Amino acid sequence: MPLRVLLLLILSAIVLAPAMLMAQDDPISRLMRQSQGSLPAAPPKPVPAPGPGPVIGTKPKGPLPIVMSARIGEHDDRTRLVIELSDPVNLRAFALANPDRVVIDMPEVSWRLGAPPRPSGFGAIKSYRYGQFRAGTSRMVIDLNQPVSVSDSLVIPPSAGFGYRVVIDLFPTTRPKFDANAGSPADLRKRETDAERLAAMIAAQQTPTAPARAAGKKIIVLDPGHGGIDSGTVGVNGLMEKDLALAEGLILARVLRGRGYTVFMTRENDTFVPLRQRVAIARTHKADLFIALHADAHPDPSTTGLSIYTLSDGRSDREGAALAKRENQSDVIAGVDLSGGNNPVAPILIDLVQRDTVNKSTRFATQAIARLSQVTDILARRPHRSASLAVLTAPDVPSVLMELGYLSNASDARQMNTLKWRNEVAEAIADAIDGQFSAK
Ligand SMILES: [Zn+2]
Repeated sequence: MPLRVLLLLILSAIVLAPAMLMAQDDPISRLMRQSQGSLPAAPPKPVPAPGPGPVIGTKPKGPLPIVMSARIGEHDDRTRLVIELSDPVNLRAFALANPDRVVIDMPEVSWRLGAPPRPSGFGAIKSYRYGQFRAGTSRMVIDLNQPVSVSDSLVIPPSAGFGYRVVIDLFPTTRPKFDANAGSPADLRKRETDAERLAAMIAAQQTPTAPARAAGKKIIVLDPGHGGIDSGTVGVNGLMEKDLALAEGLILARVLRGRGYTVFMTRENDTFVPLRQRVAIARTHKADLFIALHADAHPDPSTTGLSIYTLSDGRSDREGAALAKRENQSDVIAGVDLSGGNNPVAPILIDLVQRDTVNKSTRFATQAIARLSQVTDILARRPHRSASLAVLTAPDVPSVLMELGYLSNASDARQMNTLKWRNEVAEAIADAIDGQFSAK
């Protein structure tokens, strides 16, 4: 047989093999056909009976329970996490895959961890963070080095000078076992869906009616990045991206309302908001413009300046791709279960309708950079960039994401921490918004 024919045969075998497999009557294909595309759901895990103290999703009346300390014990057969609280609360721990995490949910608490413990980095726990997830829910998210199984939480009543201690053990397990058990419990997931639905209903109620819109008030949705358990970047001076974004957003909202705009914010306090909910808020309000506020970090501490991103159709440059990866991480950081079609960071395809929206976004970005260059440093090379950012994907709302400066640069971080700079930047952004809507 000539070599060329042989190669052709091998090649066609490689191409055809998956198609032949799919055509087979294997159990999975049968199941898919029987359930007409939707796989039967696994039976929900039983909801544990609530113990004494507040349950998840509630903000207790009176002072919040205080988390006083946390300890990580790395033993040969397990990793033990001990959380000490002032009052008994109901906790739920569960694992999430891709990336592997353990999430511990509890009712709203006040975190007073003086010196939070650091894991060695070599055991099961890679890193962890904690903070508010949603009104009524506080959360701890643990990033894992290896698959684990999560024990039920054991509550030890106060003794020997300790408060209430909650003990959670993480045992090494196999990948298949971890994957089989991963996923947020059905009742907690339902609570999340309900909370998002409620937020959308409230947003819809607040949106001006058609006659009011026709009267000409433009609607701006401001989106302070990160929040709650997701701090974003932390500056060389300790300034947290989530706090800077919120502070700038609140000032900008006040300036814009003063100029006659209707302004809505995706968050007005230090709480986490999932990426797709931010997009949903912009769409529900039928916003004329959506502005996400962030600050960047760079390995090179001399990098400075403001930059503005619009949505790209996936062909981001290297820097754009790296930024999108960082900013799209927010849901992962906050322990959102992204399995089962919940992932807002799916590949982005821009259609013709959205092309017009992207053009409007681009026009605003260009104007805003011109105006902002009068009050702050602008990124030296190409300050207007595009990237596949999940928060910019509303097809009908012109959207930009501003990286106000670099928290990794000492002088940027210092000026971003001043009220003078924040006010000047807010006025400049408002001028650019005026420009966007006064011109044709
Ligand atoms: Zn950010």
